[in-house]
Amino acid sequence: MMTESRPTLALIAHDGKKADMVAFALENKEVLQRYKLVATSTTGQMLAEKAGLAVQRFLSGPIGGDVQIAALVAEGKIAAVFFFVDPLGKHPHDPDIQGLLRICNAHDVPLATNPATAAFIISSKAL
Ligand code: PGA
Repeated sequence: MMTESRPTLALIAHDGKKADMVAFALENKEVLQRYKLVATSTTGQMLAEKAGLAVQRFLSGPIGGDVQIAALVAEGKIAAVFFFVDPLGKHPHDPDIQGLLRICNAHDVPLATNPATAAFIISSKAL
């Protein structure tokens, strides 16, 4: 599965933020293509279809995708997480969302939870 040497970025967007994620991907396609990309299922599908990016897809967030990505973060396999959260939505998988945010903080992994922060991280030479 995760055998290549390019650094990996994780991309996740709640339904209310998927359009923002596609816009972010289109705007930064050239940079994103330098990385291996992983995403939760529907986010990954949208990034492939609407932005033409190659993305390894995990499960959908509500059925474990956030947890799968959190595990990769814990293993040191993710260079940065772009997780566009919808603060106005109700999410049955809120414990998983909080877990992913927490594990990024536990491992000091760059984490963008909104497009403005994502723009800073993606333009960073440190990434
Ligand atoms: P999705 O999962 O990309 O499969 O929609 C993200 C989420 O809603 O947590």
